[in-house]
Parts: sequence; structure tokens; C-alpha cells
Amino acid sequence: MPHQTSMAHALLAWYRMAKRPLPWRETRDPYRIWISEIMLQQTRVETVKGYYKRFLQRFPTVSALAAAPEQDVLKAWEGLGYYSRARNLQKAAQVITEEHDGVFPQTYEGLLALPGIGAYTAGAISSISFGLRVPAIDGNVYRVAARYFGIRDDIGSPAVQRQIRALVTDSLPAEGVSDYNQALMELGATVCIPGVPKCGICPWQNTCDACGEQDAHLLPIRIKKVSPKAMNVAVCLITCQGRILVMRRTQKMLHGLYVFWLLEGDSDRKRVGKTMDDQELRCSFEAVLGTARHVFTHRIWKMELLHYRLLKIPQQAVLDVLGARLVTRPELLTLPLPAAMRAAKEAALELDW
Ligand code: SF4
Repeated sequence: MPHQTSMAHALLAWYRMAKRPLPWRETRDPYRIWISEIMLQQTRVETVKGYYKRFLQRFPTVSALAAAPEQDVLKAWEGLGYYSRARNLQKAAQVITEEHDGVFPQTYEGLLALPGIGAYTAGAISSISFGLRVPAIDGNVYRVAARYFGIRDDIGSPAVQRQIRALVTDSLPAEGVSDYNQALMELGATVCIPGVPKCGICPWQNTCDACGEQDAHLLPIRIKKVSPKAMNVAVCLITCQGRILVMRRTQKMLHGLYVFWLLEGDSDRKRVGKTMDDQELRCSFEAVLGTARHVFTHRIWKMELLHYRLLKIPQQAVLDVLGARLVTRPELLTLPLPAAMRAAKEAALELDW
């Protein structure tokens, strides 16, 4: 990492030249900064401009906001969406009026304790209004920092977010934190944009890790959380002369573990029978034994437990193709079976083989 001073110097010089004139940049008043920051969450700058002006005309001070009927506050917010933001604004205004004599808390922790104010907003108000040396890290700043410092781990992970917070905090200049934080946000909003950033006009192009590695367009890395998909699975306990059929998984999921014969994605008995026929397993259906459920990270198995009996022992070659074995009770107890097979195993042990 280059010396913080030169990093800050380059960014601040760029900001003075390139910053967009925005109404909330003409003030240090914590009330006004706060209103703008809350409005800017999930809303475009152009839309916020008009709302910001009208809201401050209607509620020019913290006490005016605290004393207003809730309906008036919601009306002034109409069209911005996420109405909990407006309700929290008023709640926090009431706390400031009643518990702090109408004066904004001047510490990061004091701001953080107010309703609707999280780490980002507390950081923005304390640095912009009070000049405190704390970072204000919104989504834009996470992206800029991940690229600049070359963080190539999942940005959604709390550990990575802590790492970025520490790096950004270290990069804060001793003086001019207010402008530095705003400059970082501005860089993220106008230059280090999502998708392909405009490194060619960036004040950090010579020291930025991702720019050097030419992978800025791939950062930050965000690993999508997929909610598990449910699927029907027929789990068949196929018995024959004191033995039961087990298969060793070759698939990625549960690889190397033993399962009973199963059909993923389907528990219709006709199709189960057809699949067994196709695999040259001649069986008679005996009974439905019950159901079970297992939740994997990306999948939920809704299992139907079925009992079948082999009409004749398949040839070894048939078993080999399937990766299957016929095992005795004591053998079954020694094999590694996944947790997903627990209910099926219990049902199997109760059966007459
Ligand atoms: S050089 Fe490119 S990737 Fe790096 S901070 Fe600037 S715009 Fe973002």
C-alpha cells in the first residue's frame, strides 16, 4: 500500500476538481447531512434532490421533525419508498429532542445508538459534520476498497467486511476526513462504478491493485446465496436373503459415501419400477415405510422410503456397473452412510430382510 498521505492527497485533489455540486455538500449541519444520507439509501441522487429541499422546508429543524404528526412526515416521504426510514427519522428526532436537548450526539457511538442509524450513517455524520476520523463505508466504498486493495474474497462475509473496514480506516488522513469520505463515495458513484470501472480517469490508477492486475471488472467478489431447492427422492430399501443393496456415491454430492438405492428428483412408484428394470434389478414392491427430509446447503431431499425385495440376485457385473453391493446387517453398520440416510437406515434395521 502506498503511503496514506499520497493516497489521500491524490483522491482529495481529484475530488476538488470533479465533485458534483449537490445541495447537501454545501452544509456541515448534522441534521441536513443525516436527512440526505437516509434519503440516499436505495434512492438515486437526482430523485433525492427535490425531496431533500421540500423535506427541509417542511421540517427545517430536528425539533420541527420531532413534533410533526407522523402522517405529515410520511406524506413528505411519499414516493421515496421504504417508509420505515421516515418513521425512524422521526423516532430519532424525538430521542434527540427529549434525551439530548435537541442537540445531535457528537460521537460515533452516540449516533449509532439512534433509531435507524447504522455504521455507515453514523460514520458519514460523524466525519462530515464533526470531522471525526471514522470511515463511512457504503456499497460504493466496499467496491472501491475491494478493488484498490485487491481483496478477492467474498465481500458478503463479515470477516472480509472487517478487513476492508480496517484498511479504509488506516487510509483515512489525519486532516480532511470529511472530504476524504465523501471523495471515496464520489469515486465509487462516478468512476469506480459497478461493472467496468473508468480506471483511465481515476486518481488511483497507478497504485490500485485491481487496475494493475486488470481484474477490476470482476471485483468485488460476491458469492450468491442460493436457497435450497426441494426435490422428491425415492429411497428404496432393496433386500434379498438377509442382505440389503447399498451403492457407493460417485456423484459430487455425498461422494464416496454409501446410500440405499435411490432415484433423485422423482418418487413416483411407476418410474421407480421402470428405472429398476432398466438397471436389471428385478424387484417386487413390498411396502411404503414412511417419509424423511434432509436439508443440504443447496438442496432439500423430500424422501419417500420404500421397501422392495429382489426376485433374484443380480449378476456381479450388473452390481459393478451400478457401484452396488449387497451387504449383511453387521456390514451395513460399518459402512459410512451420510446423515441424509439416517431415517432410511433406521427403517432398514427394523425390516425383515
Ligand atoms: S483504478 Fe480503477 S479499479 Fe482502481 S480504484 Fe480507480 S477506478 Fe477503481
